[in-house]
Amino acid sequence: MQNLKIGWIGLGKMGIPMAEQLLKAKYLLSVYNRSKDKEAALKTMGAQTASAPSALMATCDIVFLMVSDDEAVSQIFKAEDGLLADESTGKIIINMSTVSPGISREMAALCEGKGNFYLDAPVSGSVKQAETGTLVIMAGGNEEAFEKVKPVFEKLGKLSMLVGANGAGNSTKLAINSLLAIHAQGLAETVLFAQANHINPEDLLTLISNSAIGTVFGKIKGDAIIADNYSAAFALKHIVKDLRLAKAEGLSSPLAAAAFTTFQNAETEYGDEDIIAVLKALKVEN
Ligand code: NAP
Repeated sequence: MQNLKIGWIGLGKMGIPMAEQLLKAKYLLSVYNRSKDKEAALKTMGAQTASAPSALMATCDIVFLMVSDDEAVSQIFKAEDGLLADESTGKIIINMSTVSPGISREMAALCEGKGNFYLDAPVSGSVKQAETGTLVIMAGGNEEAFEKVKPVFEKLGKLSMLVGANGAGNSTKLAINSLLAIHAQGLAETVLFAQANHINPEDLLTLISNSAIGTVFGKIKGDAIIADNYSAAFALKHIVKDLRLAKAEGLSSPLAAAAFTTFQNAETEYGDEDIIAVLKALKVEN
């Protein structure tokens, strides 16, 4: 049994498998999710549950967040029973959600004011990588706090790197996700172009996977296209959020701007499906 006590907030598509990795690594884990029904699976595996974020802050050494967006983060910190309602000190709060650099800097200052540390530590990779502890983690914040939690990061990911002060992890993640959006749209457009020229998508995607431009992302999403399976691993609405955040940070380059328009247009109909459902939106358009 590892002797660090860890709290986990957010049991969505990513939060559940990530929290499971920590249980498998024998950490003492206590979880909290807004919708209580999602806590059951973790409870069965041996996690404790907490009634509120403040309770996790009071009882844990480290508290992780893996939630949707800035608004969720703000509520979890500032609610009456939120993280900041507790008065304990010396704790490390690690926000792994993809959010704005600004909210990380704000929460980091509030944590520091109460004698605690905040790290922004978003992840690259999706549900499969979360399930196998092979995420890529980019962190912003205090170096000493980062070194202290590195052994925990090693249970969640294959690489963790401190890239700068608070907010730098989020800025890095937004840069990577702008490439993700461009890549997803490019893959979808390529499949549609080939299909229009009577090329079998399975043949095309097999050739791409084995070529110099083959990627893990292309293989996973190519398999989804072939299987006609658009259920969300990474919901399309989340990439719209990320591109909106990137735009607010100054991203206005031609490909990223085009991808933002494409994904925004697709969101109403395909927002809850996977990012690669952009193919269906582009198909309708053409
Ligand atoms: P998800 O399945 O939509 O889960 C979202 C989680 O946030 C749920 O636990 C939800 O609670 C919680 N939440 C939302 N609003 C809240 C609020 N106001 N107060 C408290 N809790 C709230 O999302 P996900 O796919 O796990 O993604 C989580 C984060 O990781 C996002 O920032 C996403 O961009 C990022 N990310 C996702 C992937 C991926 O492939 N899925 C990969 C890398 C990064 P409820 O259960 O009560 O709704």
